[in-house]
Amino acid sequence: MRIFNFSAGPAVLPTAVLEQVRDELLDWHGTGMGIMEMSHRGKDFSGVIHEAEADLRALMGIPSNYRVLFLQGGATQQFAQIPMNLLDGRSADYVVTGAWSKKAYKEAQHVGNVRLAGSTEGDGFSRLPVAHELKLDPQAAYLHVCTNETIHGVEMFDLPEVPVGVPLVADMSSHILSRPMDVSRYGLIYAGAQKNIGPAGLVLVIVREDLLGKASTITPSVMNYTTMADNGSMLNTPPTFGIYLAGLIFKNLKAQGGLAAVEEANVAKAKRVYDTIDGSGGFYRNPVAVECRSRMNVPFTLSDPALDAAFLAEAAERKLVGLKGHKSVGGMRASIYNAMSLEGVEALVALMQDFAARKA
Ligand SMILES: *Cc1c(COP(=O)(O)O)cnc(C)c1O
Repeated sequence: MRIFNFSAGPAVLPTAVLEQVRDELLDWHGTGMGIMEMSHRGKDFSGVIHEAEADLRALMGIPSNYRVLFLQGGATQQFAQIPMNLLDGRSADYVVTGAWSKKAYKEAQHVGNVRLAGSTEGDGFSRLPVAHELKLDPQAAYLHVCTNETIHGVEMFDLPEVPVGVPLVADMSSHILSRPMDVSRYGLIYAGAQKNIGPAGLVLVIVREDLLGKASTITPSVMNYTTMADNGSMLNTPPTFGIYLAGLIFKNLKAQGGLAAVEEANVAKAKRVYDTIDGSGGFYRNPVAVECRSRMNVPFTLSDPALDAAFLAEAAERKLVGLKGHKSVGGMRASIYNAMSLEGVEALVALMQDFAARKA
């Protein structure tokens, strides 16, 4: 019996995909061995990685002048790798809208010259900056944003107006594949796998070709996008099992009807949770401005924090886990990624309503 896992990441994966992985674990397609045991240079794994890339390109509509890289080191390694590869002796702009973009900005400071172009930290990361609050450098090597702040529950539905010629770089770790995105508006998109793509240990980078070839000379080859692109993400042994599993997720999303269908389901799930919060007469509260509330990560507090432990205990009894909020925010957080079913969301809503009716 599977429980309902609301963890922010590593997070729930579709049961059907895990069952397929289980069935293929010892013998992949009659080869007599599993993917984990297979040479990454052989024709079987080559087929797996090429198919994964083709399916991702179809799902996201990735234009042909973008390269898809399957890398390691998580999104956190990208915080350093991006300036190493793109700064090109110049300066880059960072918009800080939550814990993750703040970390990205801090890490980039180790590498080179970066500027804070705007921040909503003064408002507790409860909203996104409006246009006049951003001080964008028209000469910046790139502008970095986090389009879904996993901890603060802030999602960017409208992109900032980027100065002409400045590539937009986006950390999409916690909402990639949750809805259609216009890839052509970005210079680079990156996402750690363990929220909406697959197992931890894999990070996806989608980079426009004209941004390659600018890495600083101290960039290690495994961290150099150009070297990795030239070698089809296989300069060294790639995270083969993660790529295989990500490929199965891409197929699963295609079978659901693609990202427009996925978005429709995510909108419905998020609406159920936010409506429950907003309809609770203040018993539950979400601090984020309505227009930028995340569809993937819903932080909420109880009117009396002394009730938190009882709420979590009742949740566990109903097989709802992973709801404790991030320590920096407190309260609860329901992460309702692609693989969280509407049934799981309904079970959460039933708990919330029932709990509030008894304790309010
Ligand atoms: C989880 C997360 C990260 C960090 O990912 P790691 O794989 O642990 O490095 C970075 N950015 C966002 C938006 C995240 O949700």
